[in-house]
Amino acid sequence: MRRRAFITTAGAGAVAAGIAVRARAAPAGGFDVAVVGAGTFGAWTAWHLRRAGRRVVLVDAYGAGNSRASSGGETRVIRMGYGADEVYSRWSQRSLGLWKELARTSGQKLFHETGVLWLAREEDPLTTATLTTLARLGIRHERLSRAELEKRWPQIGLGPITWAIHEPGSGALMARRAVQVVAAQAAREGVDVRTASIAPPRGKGRLGALATPQGPISAGAFVFACGPWLPKLFPDLLGERIFPTRQEVFYFGPPPGDARFAPPAMPVWVDFAEEIYGIPDIESKGFKVAPDKHGPQFDPDTGERVVSAQGLAAAREFVARRFPALKDAPLVASEVCQYENSSNGDFLIDKHPELEDVWLVGGGSGHGFKHGPAVGEYVAGHVADGTPVDAKFSLATKQKAQKRTVY
Ligand SMILES: Cc1cc2nc3c(=O)[nH]c(=O)nc-3n(C[C@H](O)[C@H](O)[C@H](O)COP(=O)(O)OP(=O)(O)OC[C@H]3O[C@@H](n4cnc5c(N)ncnc54)[C@H](O)[C@@H]3O)c2cc1C
Repeated sequence: MRRRAFITTAGAGAVAAGIAVRARAAPAGGFDVAVVGAGTFGAWTAWHLRRAGRRVVLVDAYGAGNSRASSGGETRVIRMGYGADEVYSRWSQRSLGLWKELARTSGQKLFHETGVLWLAREEDPLTTATLTTLARLGIRHERLSRAELEKRWPQIGLGPITWAIHEPGSGALMARRAVQVVAAQAAREGVDVRTASIAPPRGKGRLGALATPQGPISAGAFVFACGPWLPKLFPDLLGERIFPTRQEVFYFGPPPGDARFAPPAMPVWVDFAEEIYGIPDIESKGFKVAPDKHGPQFDPDTGERVVSAQGLAAAREFVARRFPALKDAPLVASEVCQYENSSNGDFLIDKHPELEDVWLVGGGSGHGFKHGPAVGEYVAGHVADGTPVDAKFSLATKQKAQKRTVY
């Protein structure tokens, strides 16, 4: 996979809290690229395109990092381990560098280096493959025995866990805030950031312009980075290839004065065998527990975002086993978000087969947030030179039946 040079941000200091939403006059002859969707994929794509000197407009129906978007949650894990799927490990590495750079230039706390702990069983092919990949890429990690785990994290009830991988340099991103900072920085550097809802594109050949109530937005190329909305925008093409699922997130309140569930005492943890992971009590939001099993189908515009009694009971049952001191911890906050799954978890990055100036970017599949910087860089490069994308990301490899292989 191609790497593009990163140009360091000019000018440090705090980014203005808000994002420019005013519709400036479009450049004569239109924009070079219009990006629809200001989630992690779209905002970073706009950012990279601008850095490459393009005239860019970034349009979102509800605003960058809004509460309906998959990128709109409080926090997201950034880990380097991906089993044998090395490309995602490399993209995580690349992305973490860019997230840290953004945090530095914006003066905002966007990343918490809590460490990430992969909890494993005796027979654990995914974690074993992860160990090999991390070693091959020279990513800092340690393999810990059960005895070492008991000593370092006595607040974890290990049950069937016999060993783990610890990535000390990984951790959690402040998701919603970080996406808003990307969009704000892009705006400051000349991207025209607008609020508008774009109708589903129709026809064949060239799209040429986006229709908005404020008038058409013409551009040389269009990137639709609309995450879970992609099936609505391209129903014939993606209606059966991107599967938005309802996902519940629970924040439990640790006992008063108890620092064992916040960093530095507690890292991010993942338990793929039980399809669940969590983030320690960051910025006093609560101890986050998030089931990774795909939920039912979900509409990102109209879906109610209230967690279910069954979901809460299942999360409590897990917490009581794995973190016994939190057995009676109250639920202090919750989120309902949606994954935008591709058939196997690989991202979708490809040209539209019938609209020659349109790109489709999405399929984050519950693990895409961290990769925004690298995905944006990849997309910006391909939009610029038009070269075909790697087969892994192509539309042709996206099936209509779900069979998850990427975790
Ligand atoms: C509960 C949960 C936990 C997750 N945990 C992690 C994690 O720990 N680590 C990780 O890396 N990833 C995680 N993910 C996945 C990650 O959050 C997503 O893959 C990623 O945020 C997707 O970003 P996106 O830019 O593709 O889509 P989105 O963030 O959904 O952005 C799409 C944007 O398009 C806009 N839009 C849609 N339609 C239109 C239209 N017609 N006109 C204009 N604008 C439009 C929307 O308003 C939205 O802002 C998690 C996801 C969820 C739901």
